[in-house]
Amino acid sequence: MSQPLQTALSGRCLCGAVRYRCAAILYPATWCHCESCRRASGTSPVGWFTVALASVEFHGDAPRTHRSSQGVERRFCGICGTPLTYSSALRPTEIDFTLGSLDEPDRVTPVDHIWMADALPWDHPADGLPQHAGTRTAP
Ligand SMILES: [Zn+2]
Ligand SMILES: [Zn+2]
Repeated sequence: MSQPLQTALSGRCLCGAVRYRCAAILYPATWCHCESCRRASGTSPVGWFTVALASVEFHGDAPRTHRSSQGVERRFCGICGTPLTYSSALRPTEIDFTLGSLDEPDRVTPVDHIWMADALPWDHPADGLPQHAGTRTAP
């Protein structure tokens, strides 16, 4: 299992209007196969990493926000539409960013798959990583 990064990260949307900086990741990154991420991104799975909300700085245009389910907000670029973040009221001190929005996405490698219960028949990777039906912590 790869170790969480100890250094700060930065990223941006496709068009560059929204840029961000944040502190090191809190946990190893994951691939999410849930329906909500699939529809929000237009594909599946979506790679996510998690950082402390207090460490996040946005630069340039403010991202737009969509409440995708109760207690959940997703931010994206209002110009090019790149999905950027996921915030849950259940984890108020944390925020998740899309792996693909990193300036150096090769620096973070997902270690498992979550919400496989939602995964479509063509969305069952054979990469040998652990696959969880729901979240990592679900029974
Ligand atoms: Zn953009
Ligand atoms: Zn998801």
